[in-house]
Amino acid sequence: MYQLKNNIIPLSPIEKYTLDGRLFYVKRDDLLDPYLSGNKYRKLYNLINTPKERFDKIISYGGTQSNAMLAIAALCKAKEWTFEYYTKPLHVKENKNSNYAMAIGLGMDHKELELELYKDFIASLMLNLDEKTFVLHQGGADTSAKSGVEQLANEIRASGLEVRSIATPSGTGTTALYLALSLPEYKVYTTPAIGDKSYLLQQMTALETVPDNLIILESEKKYHFAKPYKEFIELYEKLKTGGIEFDLVYAPKLWKMLLEKTEEKILYIHSGGTTGNASMLDRYRYKGLVSF
Ligand SMILES: *Cc1c(COP(=O)(O)O)cnc(C)c1O
Repeated sequence: MYQLKNNIIPLSPIEKYTLDGRLFYVKRDDLLDPYLSGNKYRKLYNLINTPKERFDKIISYGGTQSNAMLAIAALCKAKEWTFEYYTKPLHVKENKNSNYAMAIGLGMDHKELELELYKDFIASLMLNLDEKTFVLHQGGADTSAKSGVEQLANEIRASGLEVRSIATPSGTGTTALYLALSLPEYKVYTTPAIGDKSYLLQQMTALETVPDNLIILESEKKYHFAKPYKEFIELYEKLKTGGIEFDLVYAPKLWKMLLEKTEEKILYIHSGGTTGNASMLDRYRYKGLVSF
């Protein structure tokens, strides 16, 4: 399933993309793999290239609709590693096309923790690990993500595209940070999907010093993570008519910022995550914001 291509050939194509009459370029990292796509592929690149004998178990934790969760489940399936995933208690009944259902289908061992125990349990995960177990922090926010993002940076540089501005959305900020560090001659635009600019900077600083070429665009309106917003679903629909589907959690806010606050030619790095759209669209339906 995860045969890696020759490193000299780019792993994903760059396509022209027009939005509101403005020309963009999109690096189609969403096409890398059906489950292990976008920046999760880049962040897990190190583990993808790790011989399967090295580990027998991966442990991670986070949300039940996380794109990282599905990507790790696919990776573990391919490597024949056990995947233990810890979450807070599950309340909602899940859509059968959801990231959660697909991850369970790929063999994920889901463990719910009581709310009061969650924080302490997660903190204790790093203690007493045997050498065949690897713990991946929530969303893959780990220094091991660096080499895969550097591979992406090398592909961008080698493409010969005359664009000097790049954009990619942020959750933990790991992707945007390593991209900006790997490409000092480019501007890297991002926007936080979780929390605000200072929270994002705090997350990034925990990994490395944030360079000047990383530009965090902020919206005046405050948006909550993974909540439905009319302007986001409208933009999602418009983006789709341009011929590419983007995810509903991270992409709409960044596209909105780029349209409002930038003017130059931009290469947008598609960060994948479209498998999460089924459960997001359920939320939009529930709120009466979509009719399909
Ligand atoms: C995980 C994810 C992000 C956020 O990536 P970070 O490296 O945590 O900032 C952005 N877009 C999509 C679609 C994702 O799945």
